Amino acid sequence: MAKTEFKSESKRLLDLMINSIYTHKEIFLREIISNASDAIDKLYYISLTDQNVGLNKDDFKIHIEIDKPNRTITITDNGIGMDRDDLDNNLGTIANSGSFKFKQENEKNDDVDIIGQFGVGFYSAFMVADEITVQTKKYSSDKAYQWNSTGADGYEITEIEKQDVGTKIILKIKEDTEGEKYSEFLEKYKISALVSKYSDYIRYPIIMEMEHRKLREDCDLENPEYDEVKEDEVLNSMIPIWQRNKKDVTEDEYNEFYKQKFFDFENPAKVFSNSVEGVVTFKSLLFIPSKVPFNYYTKEYKKGLQLYSSGVLIMDNCSDLIPEHFAFVKGVVDSQDLSLNISREMLQHDRQLKNIASTLEKKIKNELASWLKNDREAYEKFYANFGRQLKYGLVGDFGAHKDVVKDLVLFYSSTEKKLVTLKEYVERMGEDQKDIYFATGENIDSIDKLPQTEYFRDKGREILYCSEEIDEFAFQSISDYDGKAFKNIVNEDVEEENDSKEEEKNDDSTLKFIKDVLGSRVNEVVFSKKLKSHPVCLTAKGGVSFEMEKYMALAQPEAMVRAERVLEINASHPAVNALIANITADKEKAEKYAKLLYSQALIIAGLQVEDPSEYADLVCSLMN
Ligand code: ADP
Repeated sequence: MAKTEFKSESKRLLDLMINSIYTHKEIFLREIISNASDAIDKLYYISLTDQNVGLNKDDFKIHIEIDKPNRTITITDNGIGMDRDDLDNNLGTIANSGSFKFKQENEKNDDVDIIGQFGVGFYSAFMVADEITVQTKKYSSDKAYQWNSTGADGYEITEIEKQDVGTKIILKIKEDTEGEKYSEFLEKYKISALVSKYSDYIRYPIIMEMEHRKLREDCDLENPEYDEVKEDEVLNSMIPIWQRNKKDVTEDEYNEFYKQKFFDFENPAKVFSNSVEGVVTFKSLLFIPSKVPFNYYTKEYKKGLQLYSSGVLIMDNCSDLIPEHFAFVKGVVDSQDLSLNISREMLQHDRQLKNIASTLEKKIKNELASWLKNDREAYEKFYANFGRQLKYGLVGDFGAHKDVVKDLVLFYSSTEKKLVTLKEYVERMGEDQKDIYFATGENIDSIDKLPQTEYFRDKGREILYCSEEIDEFAFQSISDYDGKAFKNIVNEDVEEENDSKEEEKNDDSTLKFIKDVLGSRVNEVVFSKKLKSHPVCLTAKGGVSFEMEKYMALAQPEAMVRAERVLEINASHPAVNALIANITADKEKAEKYAKLLYSQALIIAGLQVEDPSEYADLVCSLMN
């Protein structure tokens, strides 16, 4: 029978497997066992509503057998099994697996150690086996099949006789070579240790026949005699990690569980474990990744938690449990209050589930708040990863969740030179300051150099520097913090009362002259109250800021959103005085000065000069 070739991507991954370094090899067992456990989960779930399965919870098991002389390890489960299509689709290709995509995207980055970190499912068995045989029969199917492969050259599927539903995986362990030893995997102590290390929490018994020395009953104790006995032994404790007492679980165990379950290659940044009793009773074990998942800010990322009902998985990714603003949280929830045979559609409207979700939201909020309070450095690292998500939370659903998130967001402070909370800002505000000042721009440095910030800085005001598009929308959404409004100081309408400059020049003719020169490019020209060392600056009027204009130009160019431009000029600046003097002395020159100063104002505001070549010509003509 002709061999079916693996899909091309799978072939490449197989090569990777076969040639992987030794330390990764041992994970093959946890991958096979976890597949077996998933398959049992599926059949168990069916058995709850379908009498024909004929198995009780206690009947589900995973067996491991070792045949040393023949160099095989056989892993048997009585889970759902596979039919021919499943074999073709599931074992013939791995191109769709998340970890493979990750590998592709990071192909050039050799540091990304994919196998050790993710494991790549079933295929990892090729690290230790040179031949794999899968014998399987799917529930409610009357045919059974065998899948066999010796590696990269493809696989063969044949029909076989098999009575029981479920899957048997036979690994033919490679021969030892000079550099690589595989025989260890044929030792029971080794396999037993690997189960404890990686698969302890699997909820079905993992059974292997073990040999013991047993004291012979009728022997003389002075001269003890032993029998070699063989007994089936359960290798795993079967207690899900989230059901165990927090203080009995080591950090390592949590980390290992997280990495395995959620396909991450780094330890989580934070682990929250909760046990809730009350209106609704549940246990949750939540994690915050220490890196942003590679597809996080894309549509592909699916938020959600694994949902269990008394230890039985009922949904792999229940998105209703996690609000959008905490989409980065991974984890599991286990509740005895959820009905097991509830359909997934009904689950969405389940009152208990809604209860759990809102309790979790509060828990996460509190955990994040205490993290922020107690370990600022770690929190800031987290914030660098997921802060943007929190800010989206301020804006999303028309600000409905702003109170949950507003004390978790951070902004860069001009006076503290680091990230601060809104609460910290407000607590530092002087009696005479009414509003919370922020300034928007490309980055911290360029905001710091804005003419507008100079004035407020000199007055000793703290300014929040905002360089993310979302920031301004976020402040609009919060609208006020502790009764204090947010004011974008780059916008024209911000000035502090009691603060009129002594010699206010109301020389309308100068302003009119400049406005006439610039025409529709600016909406207004005014004498500035806030400029000090700079001759001009551009401020936005009417609610649309320059940052919004830039954002909208990208997000919705057809809307042509334009901020109203107000050119502020500094009457005490020599450059402006030169302009004013030339209005009567050399009108043409004065016009050039006006255009030049306007262009400068644009550049400083981070906006495009409308006509760069006109600007260049202008500079040259003045140099001559
Ligand atoms: P993953 O488990 O991440 O989906 P694997 O390569 O480990 O990737 O497995 C591919 C698929 O093969 C599984 O999703 C499952 O559908 C099927 N499979 C693997 N092992 C078993 C098994 N013991 N019983 C039933 N199906 C299995």
